[in-house]
Amino acid sequence: VTLSFEEARACVLREVRAGRGNLATEQVPLLESAGRILAEEITADRDYPPFARSARDGFAIRAADVPGELRVIGEVRAGEVYRGSVGSGGAVEIMTGAPLPEGADAVVMVEHTERVGNLVRVARSIESGENFNAQGIEARQGSVVLSAGRRLGFAEIALLAMVGRECVSAYRRPRVAILPTGDEIVEAGQTPEAFQIRNSNAWSMSVQVARAGGDPRILPIARDNYESTRGLIEQGLQHDLLLLSGGVSAGKYDIVERVLADLGAKFFFDRVLVQPGQPLVFGTAKDKFFFGLPGNPASTMVTFEVFARAAVELLGGSHEVSLRLLQAQLAKELRQKPGLRRFLPAQVSADGSTVTPEPWQGSGDVNSLARANAFLVTEPDRESWAAGDMIRVLLK
Ligand code: AMP
Ligand code: MG
Repeated sequence: VTLSFEEARACVLREVRAGRGNLATEQVPLLESAGRILAEEITADRDYPPFARSARDGFAIRAADVPGELRVIGEVRAGEVYRGSVGSGGAVEIMTGAPLPEGADAVVMVEHTERVGNLVRVARSIESGENFNAQGIEARQGSVVLSAGRRLGFAEIALLAMVGRECVSAYRRPRVAILPTGDEIVEAGQTPEAFQIRNSNAWSMSVQVARAGGDPRILPIARDNYESTRGLIEQGLQHDLLLLSGGVSAGKYDIVERVLADLGAKFFFDRVLVQPGQPLVFGTAKDKFFFGLPGNPASTMVTFEVFARAAVELLGGSHEVSLRLLQAQLAKELRQKPGLRRFLPAQVSADGSTVTPEPWQGSGDVNSLARANAFLVTEPDRESWAAGDMIRVLLK
């Protein structure tokens, strides 16, 4: 089955969401929870802010009293409570973060006042409610502040600390088997013969899997024969997800699909109209999802990023999966033969406004990918772009 990019991505999201079953969870200390997916609902332990909190250094007053001259009756700093109350014509000097005294309904910024002895002059008028945050305005006690399925980043972890959590329930990282294939492939630490290639895909995939929240497990290199490939695929299918690299093209020794078919695999697609990465395979076998990623390094990296990554994230319990896309202006003209959606190595400028294609020699060009900080994403049916045209960019 051949699918367009959109169809193939939608298929991966749909099938993995429907098929991922009940995911295991574990308790994780807060500092180790960065990048993990929350497996519980978090509620506010009290109102936020817990008291009407001044947002400025200034004076707590009654808005109806200004413009005018007010009597300073006291002071309140952060970490204290003012014991009295602000009556008509009164003002309490207040610091950012301090609780608004009873009777006051606004804070006037110190910059907008003039202090004369124990009087304070306010020349402008102010609205009731200005310059403080009412109790509970950000979150009410008991309300949900984070739901299961959220990836924990710095702001989410700040929120967890704020509500008093030192430990959270997170989904277990999915175990992702990485299976390189090819008679020409040797390990990175080996000195290759002239006709051999070092295994780089297992390394890029490991990093991509870990970045997506998975736990990568690299298997030995499968050789391009039935027994070796079958044995290692069977081993790979004991993980939560199997990622193969290579062996899915039309070559005489590309036997990955045959082995999977013999293992009772169901194939959702085996070709996608993208470049690099056209002969991409996605399916299930022995109740596990697998991807057969084409072995050219750029194909493996790109197809992982735009298809397999979402599967790792979903198997990790994530509810939101998205591509980090933006629009930028092309620095120079671009042409393509229509039919495929292309992901081309590119440089996005520091301010994100323009994008320049990197010179590249095709799907085997790891150098170009390493220089790039992004991919240009072409529309499959368009033939050319002029310099200055807007184009979609996928961040690397
Ligand atoms: P294949 O998809 O098996 O036809 O491989 C396509 C190209 O990618 C060939 O030139 C392979 O040598 C290369 N290749 C396959 N697997 C790897 C790997 N693990 N690391 C680096 N290059 C690879
Ligand atoms: Mg091969």
